[in-house]
Formats: sequence, C-alpha cells, structure tokens
Amino acid sequence: MDAKERAAHLRERLSYYAKLYYEKDAPEISDYEYDLLMQELRRIESEHPELITPDSPTMRVGGAPVEGFEQYRHDVPLQSLNDVFSFEEVEAFDRRVRETIEDPAYVVELKIDGLSVALEYQDGQFVRGATRGNGEVGEDVTLNLRTVRSIPLTLENVPGRLVVRGEVFMDHHALEVLNERREEEGQPLFANCRNAAAGSLRQLDSRITASRALDIFCFNVQSATDVSFTSHRESLDWLKEHGFKVSPTYQIFHDIADVCKEIRRLGELRGELSFDIDGAVVKVDSLADRERLGATTKAPRWAVAYKYPPEEKATLLRDIVVSVGRMGTLTPNAVLEPVRVSGSLVSRASLHNEAYIKEKDIRIGDTVIIRKAGDIIPEIVCAVPELRPENAVPYVMPERCPVCGAPVSRLEGEAALRCTGAECPAQLLRNLEHFASRPAMDIEGLGEAVVEQLVKEGLVSSCADIYDLKVEDLEKLDRFARKSAENLIRAIDESRHRELSRLICAFGIRQVGERAARSLARTFGSLDRFMAATREELLAVEDIGEITADCILEWFAQEQSQDIIERLRAAGVNFESNEAPQDLRFAGMTFVLTGSLTRFTRDEAGAEIEKRGGKVSGSVSKKTSIVVAGENAGSKLDKANTLGIRVIGEDEFLDLLQAEV
Ligand code: NAD
Repeated sequence: MDAKERAAHLRERLSYYAKLYYEKDAPEISDYEYDLLMQELRRIESEHPELITPDSPTMRVGGAPVEGFEQYRHDVPLQSLNDVFSFEEVEAFDRRVRETIEDPAYVVELKIDGLSVALEYQDGQFVRGATRGNGEVGEDVTLNLRTVRSIPLTLENVPGRLVVRGEVFMDHHALEVLNERREEEGQPLFANCRNAAAGSLRQLDSRITASRALDIFCFNVQSATDVSFTSHRESLDWLKEHGFKVSPTYQIFHDIADVCKEIRRLGELRGELSFDIDGAVVKVDSLADRERLGATTKAPRWAVAYKYPPEEKATLLRDIVVSVGRMGTLTPNAVLEPVRVSGSLVSRASLHNEAYIKEKDIRIGDTVIIRKAGDIIPEIVCAVPELRPENAVPYVMPERCPVCGAPVSRLEGEAALRCTGAECPAQLLRNLEHFASRPAMDIEGLGEAVVEQLVKEGLVSSCADIYDLKVEDLEKLDRFARKSAENLIRAIDESRHRELSRLICAFGIRQVGERAARSLARTFGSLDRFMAATREELLAVEDIGEITADCILEWFAQEQSQDIIERLRAAGVNFESNEAPQDLRFAGMTFVLTGSLTRFTRDEAGAEIEKRGGKVSGSVSKKTSIVVAGENAGSKLDKANTLGIRVIGEDEFLDLLQAEV
C-alpha cells in the first residue's frame, strides 16, 4: 500500500472509530490503538502535505453534536491536545517552545479520562453548560450538569461572565455500582469510566444523569470579563478558592527533565487513583507566552498530552473454567491470581473459545500478561512461555457440558462449542434472565440473583412459570420481604402488556435479536400470525435471512416452545402488536413487468409488489410466478407463454393489489 492509499485507509478507519466513540459512546478499539493510528496518519501527512484533506481526522476535533439537545456555540473553541508517546517527543515539544519563549515554565497535570465541558456563569450564577462536540458547537446539557454535585451553581463575588472548562468523569467505584445495577436489570454494561460518564451526561432525561455519580475536575478558564490572570497556575488557584474542584496536581517545572520525571511519577500513581487517567498534560504556564505560541485549528502549540500505554500486569493462570450461556455456548474463562490492573482487582478474564486459547497457546499454570486497555473488560495479552511450568499441557475443551453432562457439539462454521442438553440448567438460567431483561419483557427486579434463587427453590423451570408466581412464594425467599415480593409480582403483571416485539425477543430464538423481533412483530401483527408464517413469508420480512428463518421454524416446531406459548396465552400475556400487520400476499412470488402500463410507472408497480412481500425480476424464467403484461409487450410475453407462466393484464394486476386478504 503506498502512502496515499494508507492515508485514505487510515482516514476512513479513524472516522469510523471516532463516530462510534464520540456519538455512540461505544468504542470498538482501545484509545491507545486509536491514538497510534492517528499518529501514523499525522506522520504520513507531515511527510506528504499534498495528501492532507480538509476533512481529515487530524484536522478535526471530537464528533458531531447528537440530535435531541439544543446546540451551544462555544465562543472560545474547546480545542483538543496534540499527543506524544515518548519522552523524546516531550523534549522536542520543549525545543519548539523555546524557539519562541526564552525560559518557559511548565505545569504538569493529570489527563483525566472523561468528557470535556464548558460551564458558563453570569454574575456568579451557573447559567449554561455544554459538551465539547466538535469544538465549535457542542450539546447544551445544562440541566444534566446541574445534577453534578461538584459543579458550583452559585459563585460569590464573581461579577460578569465567566466560562470554565473541565472534564466530567465517573470514578471506579461509581462505575462498579452502576454496572452492578445494570447487570441486575439485564442492561448492557458500560465498557469503561469514560463511556459511562459520556453516556450519563448525554441523557435527554436529566433524572437519569442525576442517578449517576458524576464528578468534574476543572482545568481552564476559557474567558472571564471581570477577572484577569497572568498564569495558568494563578487561574487554577482562583478557581479552587471559588469552589471549583480543579486538577488534583499542578506543579510548576522549568527544566524539561523534571517535566519528564513528573510525567513518570504520575504514571506510577495511575494504578492507585480512584479515577481513570489516560495521560499527563504539559502546559506552558504564562498566559502571555501562550498567546505568543498560538494554536493550530485543532490544538494549542503551548501544550502536549503524553499518553500512557495501557497498563499491563503479569499474573498466574490458576485454572480454566467453562461456563454455559443462553444458547448453550461453552465459554472458557481464565481464573487468575488476583491482580490490580488499571484501578481494579482482576481475577477473571474471558478466553472466548478454544481457537483463541490455541492461537495464544495459553495453558493452566502459565504466567500471563493481563491488560484492560480502554476497557474495563480484562483480557489476556499473551502467555510467557519462559515461565511455563514443565508439566503444563495444552488446554482441551470438555467433551461434555460441565453443567448438565450432555455431549457438546460444534455447529458448522462456528468457533464455539454448544451443549446439546435440552434441559440444561445453565441454559435455563440464562434463558430466564434474558426473558426478564430490559430489551425483552423488562421485568424490573428479576435479575440474575433472583432468577437463580427461583430455579434453585424449584419455583420456576420455564419462563411461563414466572406468571404463576405469587407474593407468598417470593416472601419465603432470602432477600425478600412483603414489599419487595409485591413489587416483583407487580412488575411481572405489568410485563403481560408488553409490546409483541419484546415477547418475540424474549423467546431467545437464535439469531432473533431486538431488531429482527421488531421487524417480525411489525410484519405479522400477532404471535399467531407469526407462528403460522411459512418460510417464504419469513424471508420476505426485512432483516430476516435464510439462517434466521430456519432458526425460527425450528424453534416453533419444538413441543416445549408450543407448551410455553400456550401457557403464556393462558397467563394473559399480550400476543398482539400495536402496529397494523404488513400485507404479505406476494411472499415467495416473483413478478416480471413488461410492456407499458398506463396507471403506474414500472418503478411504482415494482414498489407495490415489494411492499406486499414479492420480488420483481427483469427476466422470465421457470421461477417466475406472474408476468404483468402492459401494452406492446414483446419477447418476455412470448417466453412466458412458452413456459406456461401466468400472464395478467394491468386491470387484473390492480385487482390483485386491492383484493382483501
Ligand atoms: P484527547 O482526549 O487526547 O485530549 C484532549 C482532551 O483532554 C480535552 O478535550 C480535555 O477534555 C481532556 N483533558 C483531560 N484532562 C485535561 C487537563 N488536565 N488539561 C487539559 N485537557 C484535559 O483528545 P480528543 O481530541 O478529545 O480525543 C481523542 C481521544 O479520544 C483520544 O484519547 C482517543 O484515544 C480517544 N478516541 C478513541 C476512539 C476509540 O475508538 N477508542 C475513537 C476516537 C477517539
């Protein structure tokens, strides 16, 4: 790949990752990997300036503001920072600064991993606050910021207008509490503190933000009409005096060697901090010097961010245990000698599947390297073969399900092994949890721990049993009192009225997630129509392919499924969709349009056919169901007649479209 192609490739990948990160709060790669790709692009662009495009990610800050919030235009742009990854680069930064400034003083601060906001005060009152967005325009999240306790709402003796910049973050403990709650409620977990903070601050309902323990460190005065400062440190001291929580450390250094020492010291502190940092920021302290150094469109020339690599730790792999998921998938998990990595104690890591273990040649007894990258999900980077005990043997997955003892099998083309036991208790637990989860029947209070108890006590052995539970049954269980038992029964009752798509999702049919369930509910309108659907009708539904259609047919063909459905019906669970069912009269049929039609264009006629589940083809073959022949039809009509295919005129076509079904 030459430089031009590589730059185009990097630009495309970086834009894709940035969209996921900034707009969806759901990154796919670690920040460190992202930063390295960005650095590579920057290098190519500096060697080949002719390759720079105006829309290059190196030229832009952040992501587009999300719809649903008012836009907020920053009067002083919220810029980004230039990254560096080595002390040589920090020294090079110092040399560049010294070309303009004789004896610069630097401040070194922690680089908090959260999201940047601007806080606006008028005569000492907090009036508005916004996210960074693309640096120029952010999202107005005033109401949500008002719920962050460490943001002062009133300042004493601060007349005029003041804009302060800070980093909103969530600490490790708050994330753990939040994720525990989400796990119990069956909601997806936040991957790390930054995503949790961003996801919490960008809520349209500020009550949700209020329920999340967000915090802030302020690190800059963006503008002030009635106060002035000569240095950054002075401004931070002033902010602190006026009730702002500011960057925890901000010492002054004159020598770049001391700056590097401080960066190293902060890096070593990293594991002990209660919040995430992803680097240290080196800033010129004097505001007059900053003015002289200026900025590029994206970042100031008076600061750099030193990015720490993800923390990696060695520990012992004590064992590999296999868990069984909802679909019977066997997942090997590493049991580790507990070790502290990036702020939390890690004792487990998923090993995904047999192929993963083989590829990394991970064996029980090995010393392994663990990291969390940008994620809270720990992963094994590699094993250290030099430290391998002599008797360590390659790991082999069990041939029988560790929970029910049924044989395991591998479906063609899949890496995972599955338990074949129809009554496997592990699968039952996961199925029940899924049934009650947020995207499915959304039964509040019916999380993992309660489900386990209900199964253990023999109260529930299929999702239909949930609707037979009574307050008295629950009251007897640990952790239940009259009130909590009544609450759960109420939540179960409420779930009887859920929209059909949730019930379809709750069945846990393979390949049928939330999206497919919505399409199916919308198309068929009732569970009975869905159950009666033929393969052709299923294939005519948006998002449903052959594999999914077969999984659906297989699931309905099981006696157990039919039994569950009848019991849910008897329990009064809603089987109807609120939306009108889709007309599928042409499911499985292929039409050919020929000649000129008088009441439709070809495209309109085609759209009418597709709307009813049919397909349109350009040529006649044995597979054609109907040929619609308009005036002056030619060879296609002849071919249809030769093959004995049904031919209809425009009037009859109209009748077919309009006939009652
Ligand atoms: P940045 O996060 O590297 O640096 C700028 C930000 O640092 C500022 O917006 C500011 O809010 C913050 N900051 C924290 N403490 C600070 C302090 N004491 N002083 C000054 N600023 C401080 O740059 P960026 O432009 O915001 O975004 C890039 C970041 O986002 C990178 O870390 C990158 O890894 C990550 N990212 C990751 C992905 C992914 O897919 N993983 C995608 C896009 C971006």
